[in-house]
Amino acid sequence: MFIEPRVGNRHQAQKRGWIEVICGSMFSGKTEELIRRLNRAKIARQRVEIFKPAVDTRYHEEDVVSHNATAIRSTPIQFANDMLLLASGCDVVGVDEAQFFDEAITEVCVHLANNGIRVIVAGLDMDYLGKPFGPMPALMGVAEYVTKVHAVCVQCGDIASYSFRNAVSQEKVLLGETDSYEARCRHCFMEGMKGKL
Ligand code: ADP
Ligand code: MG
Repeated sequence: MFIEPRVGNRHQAQKRGWIEVICGSMFSGKTEELIRRLNRAKIARQRVEIFKPAVDTRYHEEDVVSHNATAIRSTPIQFANDMLLLASGCDVVGVDEAQFFDEAITEVCVHLANNGIRVIVAGLDMDYLGKPFGPMPALMGVAEYVTKVHAVCVQCGDIASYSFRNAVSQEKVLLGETDSYEARCRHCFMEGMKGKL
């Protein structure tokens, strides 16, 4: 389990920021882990702000909701740059579904961290083709801490790090539920992709 490097440093004369990335496939517990860390920061009486891309309204317009139904209030935003203004005065900034943001999100997170904010970013590291997803590789590059979480392969029960798409759509952004995506291990993902070629 990830141990927070430091909690409750609000009273330090000089605040220090950093970036944490939580990545993995669908159903791997990224959002759960994000909510867990943010709730702990709230317990430490830190000022917390959570953002998600406006495109992701699967469960709720404003809440960030995990597949396990845990939830936390968030602010939907269209562009990563919107965070610069909205995050002022925060100790901790959380971002869910970071893969859907534009490339500017990396620079924005670096800027926030440079200004003393703890930034926790959760997102899919690979798309449904098994390719690195949007800004996630760059975010991992600039982060101090990277945590990769895993789901359970619904085919064989092994550790899963791929999001296999059952649907026929070729859209990259297909907001998913259990009927269109499933968590799969490398082997079962490759088997499934063979059937699609
Ligand atoms: P993510 O944000 O990575 O998509 P969530 O935090 O929303 O994941 O959900 C994780 C929860 O999803 C788990 O605690 C579990 O209840 C549920 N779940 C459903 N399918 C699976 C699976 N194949 N492997 C692991 N957890 C699953
Ligand atoms: Mg999630």
